Amino acid sequence: MNPEELWKAALAQLELNISAANFATWFRGTRVNKVEGGIVEVGTPTSFVKNWLEERYSKQVASILGGILGRPVEVRFAIIPGAPKPKVPTPTPLFDVAEEEKTKTLKKLSEARLNPRYTLENFVVGNNNQLAHAVAQAIIASPGKVYNPFFLYGGVGVGKTHLMQAVGHEALRRNPSASVVYVTGEAFTNEMIDAIQNRRTSAFRSKYREVDLLLIDDIQFIAGREGTQEEFFHTFNALHGAGRQVVMTSDRPPKEIAKLEERLRSRFEWGMIADIQPPDKDMRVAIISFKCREMGIELPFESANLLAEKVGSVRDLEGVLMRVVTTAQLTGAPLTVELVQKALGVSTSEKAARKAINPKEVLDAVAEEFSLKLSDLRGARRYKEIVVPRQITMYLLRNDFNLPLTRVAEMLGGRDHTTIMHGVWRCERLLDENPDVKDRIEAIRDKLYA
Ligand code: ADP
Ligand code: MG
Repeated sequence: MNPEELWKAALAQLELNISAANFATWFRGTRVNKVEGGIVEVGTPTSFVKNWLEERYSKQVASILGGILGRPVEVRFAIIPGAPKPKVPTPTPLFDVAEEEKTKTLKKLSEARLNPRYTLENFVVGNNNQLAHAVAQAIIASPGKVYNPFFLYGGVGVGKTHLMQAVGHEALRRNPSASVVYVTGEAFTNEMIDAIQNRRTSAFRSKYREVDLLLIDDIQFIAGREGTQEEFFHTFNALHGAGRQVVMTSDRPPKEIAKLEERLRSRFEWGMIADIQPPDKDMRVAIISFKCREMGIELPFESANLLAEKVGSVRDLEGVLMRVVTTAQLTGAPLTVELVQKALGVSTSEKAARKAINPKEVLDAVAEEFSLKLSDLRGARRYKEIVVPRQITMYLLRNDFNLPLTRVAEMLGGRDHTTIMHGVWRCERLLDENPDVKDRIEAIRDKLYA
């Protein structure tokens, strides 16, 4: 058996034993360099892959190779001599087409309000999102037929919006004349209110009731809003009845959305429900390595490892990664562990732990920052001037102190834990959208941790 045949046989077995994403990420472009005595040298395209395979897969590879050769084998990994540098991924078919077509497609994407970056090719698949990804693929293959509606839920930054928009992209790519609409639950609500005030309800209705694919993000927002739920109920029925595809995302499953009308809840459960879990460390390394390849940079293994260890959310990972890369480019410094460490800084939760702050002090600090009384924060009044500081308190207690939802609920006058979840989600949105909120939170943190 020559090295090529040997490796082909080994890959066939590996493929059966590990996830498709890991197989594609780590074994693409590998080969057997040479077999000498009991030693098999496996060639890898980059040092990053070499380190990762050494750390994670050497035992498995050795046992498979040993099984094929019928004798014990020692595995070594080495970079394939003269292997080409990792390239920016091959352009997607979307951007392969002629300039004019490209502009047209981009226009369609923006009309549908889709982010051009959120494609299926750019979505890393792993244990945490395998099911959701499979469902998305099935929907793309036969929209409106297999899983209708598709209800996708999960925490913040796990890739719900990305995957949902990828479905929209693929639909447009396959059928450029399809009408695809992406809207958030919040925007849907606002548009509806606007339409009623300006007597344009029939235009609003036909906009949403005649689409081929409706993507509605963060649907939990409409819960508790009577008019919006009523309107969405009819929209849903019109689309579903006509065999049009509906995809929804939410921060929790339908049965846990408080104040969601029963008739909507039951419809949300008609089709397929899938969740995306937070990525584990392996998955985070895979995502980092993918994003680096996308940007055409090679991040040393230790640096990627450190990033994956310290940063839990994908959204934060992207931020830190950008910071690392920008600093490196500006200063010409290599992407070392030290550089990553610097970019990571000291996390707010570490600061909180270091100062041994009592979480109760957060309430005092927020109340002081907004000139409120503690009883305002703990109370039930729903004025905007109180609601936002209350949500900031929830966010700080969860994010900086890692308190359980139930504990936060207790500290804030015994609310429901789903209210806390919603509050944290709102505050995260505000942080993205409203620089003032960001400043206020930083001011509170300065006060607490200084
Ligand atoms: P959510 O809607 O669940 O809050 P997003 O879809 O907005 O999360 O994802 C946050 C960021 O993380 C986006 O920039 C997205 O591209 C990225 N991201 C999340 N999951 C993945 C993944 N599996 N592969 C690639 N990028 C991901
Ligand atoms: Mg989202």
